[in-house]
Amino acid sequence: MVMFQCLLKGYCCKKYWIPVTHLDLLRVELYTNFRVSSRMINLYEVSLYEDLSYPYVTFSGEKYFLALSSKEDGSCIFLLTNGRCSIHPYKPLVCRFYPFVYIEKGNEIEIELNDNAIGECPGVILDGKPIPEDVKKDLARLARARLLELKMWNDVAMQWNESPYSKKDFESVSPIFIDFILRLAKEDLKKLMEMKLWIP
Ligand code: SF4
Repeated sequence: MVMFQCLLKGYCCKKYWIPVTHLDLLRVELYTNFRVSSRMINLYEVSLYEDLSYPYVTFSGEKYFLALSSKEDGSCIFLLTNGRCSIHPYKPLVCRFYPFVYIEKGNEIEIELNDNAIGECPGVILDGKPIPEDVKKDLARLARARLLELKMWNDVAMQWNESPYSKKDFESVSPIFIDFILRLAKEDLKKLMEMKLWIP
């Protein structure tokens, strides 16, 4: 069915916005030379994405998805001109699936090719063979970690949304917000490490 090798064209990093969790941002903070700041963060209004089910944070009483910032041309702030990702080993978990997707089926995780990647991603080669088993196994493990991190992120986001700061605008409370989510991310990191489920 498919083989994949990233050709560093960066189409996916230009086309899609990247939703992040508190733990995605903690990876950047812990393992890269970048520090998490309001310039790294973009907010997408939940009301514009009715089909998207994802934890949200509230500012000024409005609901937003937390995402990475983008440059003027729409590409991710971490995309380099040579097509490489400047935080590649520690990039958000959602980035690590493309051009595949995971699908929850009861307790099982299935890995499939992302339909959008066909004809869009030049690294995808349709060869009539199944997705290699080692690729499926690695991505299924990643999917389980991501699902757990999303649950944790949902809890953190709900705590934020119940705080009085959520009634203020992002610009005025962004340092408090970033400290809040990174502090709780460190607590969740400890839990994940104890469960041996932390993926750097
Ligand atoms: S974090 Fe890296 S892989 Fe993810 S969209 Fe940005 S440049 Fe691409």
